[in-house]
Amino acid sequence: MSPRREQFLPYALPLIEDDDIEAVVDSLRSNWISKGPKTGEFEKRFAEYIGVKHAIALNSCTAGLHIALLAAGVGAGDEVITTAMTFAASSNVIIHCGATPVLVDIDPKTLNIDPAKIEEKITSKTKAIIPVHLAGLPCEMDEILQIAKKYSLFVLEDAAHGMYTKYKDRMVGTIGDAAAFSFYATKNLATGEGGMVTTNDDELAGKMRVLSLHGMSRNAWNRFSEKGSWYYEIEYPGYKYNMTDIQAAMGMTQLAKLESMQARREVIWQRYNAAFNKLPEIEVPTDFTYARHARHLYMIRLNLDKLTVDRAAFIEQLKEGNIGTSVHYIPLPYHPYYRDTFGYKPGDFPKTEALYERIISLPLYPRMSDVDVQDVIEAVQHVIEKIRL
Ligand SMILES: *Cc1c(COP(=O)(O)O)cnc(C)c1O
Repeated sequence: MSPRREQFLPYALPLIEDDDIEAVVDSLRSNWISKGPKTGEFEKRFAEYIGVKHAIALNSCTAGLHIALLAAGVGAGDEVITTAMTFAASSNVIIHCGATPVLVDIDPKTLNIDPAKIEEKITSKTKAIIPVHLAGLPCEMDEILQIAKKYSLFVLEDAAHGMYTKYKDRMVGTIGDAAAFSFYATKNLATGEGGMVTTNDDELAGKMRVLSLHGMSRNAWNRFSEKGSWYYEIEYPGYKYNMTDIQAAMGMTQLAKLESMQARREVIWQRYNAAFNKLPEIEVPTDFTYARHARHLYMIRLNLDKLTVDRAAFIEQLKEGNIGTSVHYIPLPYHPYYRDTFGYKPGDFPKTEALYERIISLPLYPRMSDVDVQDVIEAVQHVIEKIRL
């Protein structure tokens, strides 16, 4: 008999507690439901936590990636390098700027962009690199920064999975020229929708702030308060990318408990490692001494040569046991828009394509009980027993 849970276990859920709820209700009672004082306070606390000079709160990470590229001057005719193994947002924003994404294969050890393959993709049109810290493991930033310096490229960290990640002794979000974080519902710090763009560069920060709110001159956001003025100027046809105080309220309660949420992620991670290390059919995520991993995604890799079924069937069988999973990611070159627009062919990104066939992200979040964790472990063990060669 298969060990089927009574209730479906989703692969990700946010941790929303009374403190989050009270903070959101407090925003509602204060009547500041758009960008207001709480957004400014959240920016300040976030910047302090990361150790960065500027943090600008936005309605998404995607918005942050977009305005960072624009502020860096990326536009029509330019090329921007990123990894083939990422969420579409990392690359869609390049196209939003009128530039062309240039994808690089992964290093099969880290699953991040392979620094050794970046240089061969650089042309006279290359303006920027977007390293993505996949699953919470930092990219090899020393190598990337060295290449960026040699060719004068802007480095924009996609830190959507990088809340809490450290590369050597440096917090992710302080290493490149700019970085964007996501507070989407499934991320380590969640505000429903939301994001933060960070930089140590005063000029870049000023540009991004203006771009994030209609291109309005600075501080016009408080024009409806007693301190504000009716007068503002539009310096650029900007975007409507600001965060709201409702989100910022939750951002602050989430930030206050980030360390304890991370500690719970770590416990689950180690329990998975201990259980799955015993199964030769599964490769567990690799740890690297240079990294403090954010434990955002627990991605197992199936050793398909030891199994009778493929990854899709494995996922189906876990689902029958009421265990939710996900796949991070369907490689960008496989999506119809990317395939048809840029003419990618099977074999263009061999390491990414081979990895894709093998990966499954298991449930990993602080709300999981010990019983939930044990259910996942037993469900995986049970499926493996059924399908091993
Ligand atoms: C979630 C995610 C994004 C986008 O974040 P949003 O806040 O939803 O815009 C970008 N890149 C990666 C790698 C992500 O996982």
